[in-house]
Amino acid sequence: MTSTVLLRQNAPPSPPPERVTVSVHALDAGHFSLPEYQFVHPISRDARKTVPSLSFLIQHHNIHSGKTTRIVFDLGLRKNIERYAEPIQKHVVTRQPMTTDPDVVKSLVKGGLHPEDIDYVIYSHVHWDHVGEPRDFPTSTFVVGSGATSLLNGTSVTLRGGHSFFESDLLPHGRFVELSDPSGTQPNSKFSEEESGVLNFHRPWQPYGRCPETLDLFNDGSLYIVNAPGHLPGHINILARLSDSHQVYLAGDACHDRRLLTGEKEIGEWNDVHGQVCCIHADKQAAQETISRIRELERDGVEIIFAHDVEWENNPVNNGRFFGASKL
Ligand SMILES: [Zn+2]
Repeated sequence: MTSTVLLRQNAPPSPPPERVTVSVHALDAGHFSLPEYQFVHPISRDARKTVPSLSFLIQHHNIHSGKTTRIVFDLGLRKNIERYAEPIQKHVVTRQPMTTDPDVVKSLVKGGLHPEDIDYVIYSHVHWDHVGEPRDFPTSTFVVGSGATSLLNGTSVTLRGGHSFFESDLLPHGRFVELSDPSGTQPNSKFSEEESGVLNFHRPWQPYGRCPETLDLFNDGSLYIVNAPGHLPGHINILARLSDSHQVYLAGDACHDRRLLTGEKEIGEWNDVHGQVCCIHADKQAAQETISRIRELERDGVEIIFAHDVEWENNPVNNGRFFGASKL
């Protein structure tokens, strides 16, 4: 009895349980060029810049089941432009110069993976420059935010701009999940916990840190889908834990230019040929609130990467963070 007590007293304090992490790698999924006035203000009407349309590979390893779950967040540009619907092909003319080689598939292969290895494709939103070629992922389950299927089916409110054309057959029949509306009635919280690594996307949206609406995908704090309203109905982001001290936030099109985070620029607006005021965000005020939240996350030390983040891509310290990168 006494010796047991002594042993307990002498035993070193047990370390805190390690937090579960995921790995995140960027995937080169094409480049295109943007007129800057459509994104930031003030800026010269002629200013253009060529930006990536980044995809990301996220890998989660379940130490109990041994299963690795692989997710690709966004598929970038479609390799064969002619496979876009005609209105998008017309719009693409205004986005030159543009390259689609390598595409997301080639970038996966560079690191030794194939589309069949990808369990889930999560779309930040369903604009043409993020949806890539879903036909290239014949076994993956596709995940979209609430309202995305209404856009694809053409039953949503009209959105202005040539980039807002949606393909009704984009999502593979019977192989996609549309998340619940974070502001709507929450689904029954008595969901069953699957143990095979199949994710439950229908858990209730819950606050996490600064983000009021998140889904803890693996129920272990390693990976959250974050509701990020403003850019397009169903726009969602990802918050991933890479280590105890490193979280990364994949911002999709919540922000198109780092100067919006620093406050150096404001969200751009312009008049179309009919004199209508246009904005790249469907709901500018909600987009502004989302940007404010991202700014706070960055101040907290979270790394922010948005889909068209040319500065992140060009920073040499990130070279080794592309999947299959030869140099570290
Ligand atoms: Zn985009």
